[in-house]
Amino acid sequence: MKERPHPSHPDLGHGCTLAIDPSAENVQLAHLRSALSEAEKTEEELNADFSPALVAETLAQLKSDSESGLLERRRKVIETATGEAKTVCTFRLSTPLTSDFATRAAGEPARVIDRHTGDILFAVERERALAAAYPGRVFVRQKKRFCVLPFEEQDASSRGEIACEREERLITTSKIRSMEVATVERRSGGDRRSARDSVVAEEGSSVNDRRIEDRRSAYQRAAAARTLGGVSFSLRTLPVNVTEHVLGFRRFDLNGLVRDTTLYPEPITCSFSGKATLMGFPASSFSDVNGATLHALAHLFRTTLGAFLHHTEEDVDVVWLPSFGSEKEPSIAFVDLPPGGAGFAEGCSLDVLRACVRWSLALVRRCPGGCGRTSGCLFCIQIRDCHSAPDDLLHLDKAGADRVLSLLVGEQEAKRFDAPTKGAP
Ligand SMILES: [Zn+2]
Ligand SMILES: [Zn+2]
Repeated sequence: MKERPHPSHPDLGHGCTLAIDPSAENVQLAHLRSALSEAEKTEEELNADFSPALVAETLAQLKSDSESGLLERRRKVIETATGEAKTVCTFRLSTPLTSDFATRAAGEPARVIDRHTGDILFAVERERALAAAYPGRVFVRQKKRFCVLPFEEQDASSRGEIACEREERLITTSKIRSMEVATVERRSGGDRRSARDSVVAEEGSSVNDRRIEDRRSAYQRAAAARTLGGVSFSLRTLPVNVTEHVLGFRRFDLNGLVRDTTLYPEPITCSFSGKATLMGFPASSFSDVNGATLHALAHLFRTTLGAFLHHTEEDVDVVWLPSFGSEKEPSIAFVDLPPGGAGFAEGCSLDVLRACVRWSLALVRRCPGGCGRTSGCLFCIQIRDCHSAPDDLLHLDKAGADRVLSLLVGEQEAKRFDAPTKGAP
């Protein structure tokens, strides 16, 4: 828990990263429940290893749930320091841990179920349940295709159940959405702690304060200017508030061509706190970076990231932000989608981005379709998983993306990505 083990797998030499953030709330929660099921412990003992706020909240939750299996006992102990006898209360979970334990530990999840059989297809954090299982979404589970029912037909969503039906047609979907990513607000009055940290700190012990201090300095260290061989850019992993508005979805046929587009009468909005890694392009290095350039970069990173950081659609999203933070920097955000963060933001490390930037530049310079269009083509910067509204689909700037990527790797290095000239072998 104290330190991440040094990664040693041979595959890491290829430039991929294994990442799990030990301080993420859902990870802490999973460990706390493990600790409770392993041995009888007092609240004080638990507070030494976990945030007291988390311990108090979890114990209260387990106490109120009659089926949680929490055993509470009173014991007389002698305080070693003072020799005084006192009564303490100990806790232990008697229920065995199950395989879906990690999901359950992350809070009561919403269940996506097959309406006809009642089978649970997958579980998703409640905060972003309807962003993940948006009405109309087609997904594949257990080699079968399912479609999330329309909003009007969701009668058990208050119980945390999202209903689906079998979908026989060979179609896929991609959502249309906008995403706001904001730094966690800092308190006024000279308290520079983030609001999230200060809640914990107020109830915290000195152990906890130290942990927050460690975490905060880690963020500050990460805010340093970085380089991949060219001009410097900013890179940092931060706690953020994310608001996602799902506006509708596109359906695709087998060939990946758009079959139709549905826009909801009202957007579905989900908000959660979590983490993101922000790659910022300061004007001093990049001058003006327009929205269409950022949009193209987001597509390229979304395409290349999977080769260097293993993830699914539910784990991480790449979002372009015309202006982020107090510096108002044009930025690309790698958003850790599990609320609280599960380590995917940290996984988007400098090494991973170095690889993504190079592969992106190769895609732009050597479009397999040989296109020279500003908005590119389906072989280079246009992607199926574009989440933009219909009017913004072609709001892409291939030359702009080329310029930013070239600046990132440096002029010398960028030349190596030129398309082979005609007549060359
Ligand atoms: Zn192209
Ligand atoms: Zn797009």
